[in-house]
Amino acid sequence: MTKRLTITIDGPAGAGKSTVARCVAERLGYTYVDTGAMYRAVALQAVRMGISPQDEEGMSRLLEETSIVYRSGRTLLNGEDVSEAIRTPQVTALVSEVACIPLVRAFLVECQRQMGAEGGVVMDGRDVGTVILPEAELKIFLTASLAERARRRQLEWQEKGVEASREEVEQEIRARDKMDREREVGPLRIADDAIIIDSTELDVDEVVDQIVQLALAIKGEDTP
Ligand code: C5P
Repeated sequence: MTKRLTITIDGPAGAGKSTVARCVAERLGYTYVDTGAMYRAVALQAVRMGISPQDEEGMSRLLEETSIVYRSGRTLLNGEDVSEAIRTPQVTALVSEVACIPLVRAFLVECQRQMGAEGGVVMDGRDVGTVILPEAELKIFLTASLAERARRRQLEWQEKGVEASREEVEQEIRARDKMDREREVGPLRIADDAIIIDSTELDVDEVVDQIVQLALAIKGEDTP
């Protein structure tokens, strides 16, 4: 049986991690796990329960009462499919604050570790290669210029009917990156053994090809 690798893709907001990770997983026949979706589900539940991220007791109660499952590309919150509901500007504005809470990180990191334990997985996020799966065979840090990330994110918003100026999108991305880089637990950083890919001038297929080739080289194969 051929070896099933563990592949991690970390990077700042809007670098295209989810799209790339999903395509790499498809090409290799692996499972894709979007760790950001799970943080978004916690943020959505905080909004729904009217709990502020500063309310430690409230957040602890939320985690006790809440089940978050990521399966086959869908995010389930207490059994309800919230895959679309977690992508709203309201959840996006709150998620990085929620992701700074050590209790929330401990809760999700444990689930995410279990999801990656068997290999044959492509997991994307901020701390996957550094904290969740530090033993992964292939670690990618995917980045792009702020201007390009904002351009792509604005297009995504437009497709969903959300109008926002380039400046607003840039501002949102910059604020989220700052919080993600500066938090004490599980900050966004480049793992020592990560390969950095700057996708500013690359399209999705080019990035996916590069990662699949790297994976095949590690497996010692030419085809998936
Ligand atoms: O990947 P996405 O942009 O959907 O992630 C939303 C937010 O979740 C990030 O801005 C970050 O604050 C948080 N996150 C995290 N650790 C991860 C994945 C996401 O803190 N592994």
